[in-house]
Amino acid sequence: MSGAVRVRFAPSPTGYLHVGGARTAFFNWLFVRSEGGSFILRIEDTDVARSTQESLQAILESMRWLGMDWDEGPGKDGAAGPYFQSQRMEKYREFSSRLLASGHAYRCFCTREELEDRRAASLAEKGALKYDGRCERLSPEEVLSLEAGGRPCVVRFRVRSGVTSWQDEVKGRIEFSNSELDDFIITRSNGTPTYNFAAVVDDVTMQITHVIRGDEHISNTPRQILLYEALGEALPVFAHLPMILGPDGTKLSKRHGAVAISHYERQGFLPEAMANFLALLGWAYDGKREIFTREELVRKFSLERVSSNPSVFDQDKLIWMNGQYMRELPSSRRHEMVRRFLREEEGMNDVDTRGDWIDRIVDVVGDRMKVASQITELAGFFFEDRVRYDEKARELLLSGAGTSELLLKVAGRLESLKDYGAVSIEEAIRGLAGEMGLKAGELIHPARAALTGKTTSPGIFDVMTLLGRERCLSRLRDAADFAASERAS
Ligand code: GLU
Repeated sequence: MSGAVRVRFAPSPTGYLHVGGARTAFFNWLFVRSEGGSFILRIEDTDVARSTQESLQAILESMRWLGMDWDEGPGKDGAAGPYFQSQRMEKYREFSSRLLASGHAYRCFCTREELEDRRAASLAEKGALKYDGRCERLSPEEVLSLEAGGRPCVVRFRVRSGVTSWQDEVKGRIEFSNSELDDFIITRSNGTPTYNFAAVVDDVTMQITHVIRGDEHISNTPRQILLYEALGEALPVFAHLPMILGPDGTKLSKRHGAVAISHYERQGFLPEAMANFLALLGWAYDGKREIFTREELVRKFSLERVSSNPSVFDQDKLIWMNGQYMRELPSSRRHEMVRRFLREEEGMNDVDTRGDWIDRIVDVVGDRMKVASQITELAGFFFEDRVRYDEKARELLLSGAGTSELLLKVAGRLESLKDYGAVSIEEAIRGLAGEMGLKAGELIHPARAALTGKTTSPGIFDVMTLLGRERCLSRLRDAADFAASERAS
């Protein structure tokens, strides 16, 4: 096994999988699939109070949806398991004892209150805020007697003096002066390991070769490197991925709106498009090309092409990209996506009892729909009982003196049609326009406003067909009333 690439994604199950986490997971996945090796999914659930089964399931579900399969992890046992930190306590205890025995760690009996008092005093004198090392100086006898007295203690790592540095695959050389780090806690008084310690024990015992994660962890890395050194273990390669920013230039977060991958799934985004989009959050091929199949991404991905600069999460671009994938889909899949969206997100309960009506609407909307959820904005008027006129439609209906009459004429013509279908409707409306000495548009535009409440819509004859005669007539007449009464008042 030595020499084989092993990477890990290590989410804490305290929430859903968000865009940033998914990007980290995907870069790990792309890297290992392009290099060959194993992708390990490790669940960092030592925070028992905040870890939940629901969020674990949500994370796994989003990973599967994005097509990121793992070789070892939940549901996939391997030699390096278990893959839940809560089941690895024995290992953390063992490594903690090792560091205590080698003198790289020591027990600290300072209580929270003592630490706070000393910190406040130090602050008042403009001194350092880090741990002052008091327990480092306890004699073995003092330690024994404090322990015998049952006083709770934590285990602290003894940070050596000097400098800690590494060659980051993405960020280049990074250096920290150890004087900036205090003797950090590796085991809490209740026996649980802290993040930095558990992560290193796991990365060592799981034989992780490349640690690829968000750059918010850069400040943890020197502590982790010191732990590797103390344990006499070879360092993995570190690659810290650039931050993802929201459109306002601050770190992407809930404040910017939807960041949960499951939200995008529910809105009808395609996993292929989402994955393609995530790949471009920090990685680029030639700076021009943006659409890649998954196989191409695997073939072309490399850490060298990951930028060290932040990338911006541009939702419009995601929508555009999704549209590129949508247009390639067979119509049956588009139908199914819209049906699912209307059923599950809009609570429409007659989606499946109306024959192919919805599918035909999806077809006439065509490529304007870049995401399934856009069906409501592009074709919501089909599903609503009453039309609401938007501002432009209102203006149009109220602009001409004869609009009311025109709409009534259109209604009359539709009412008298024997065969109510797109072709005969078109003939009838064009015929009517000719008889009245008008251009077809002069009838179509107000009719569109009357039927859809908007000034743009799918082809009007398709709209008339799919709305059905009765609804068309009543909408045209309502709009005629509206145009007449509003003008009168
Ligand atoms: N559980 C940590 C996180 O979600 C993992 C960090 C790491 O990859 O080391 O941020």
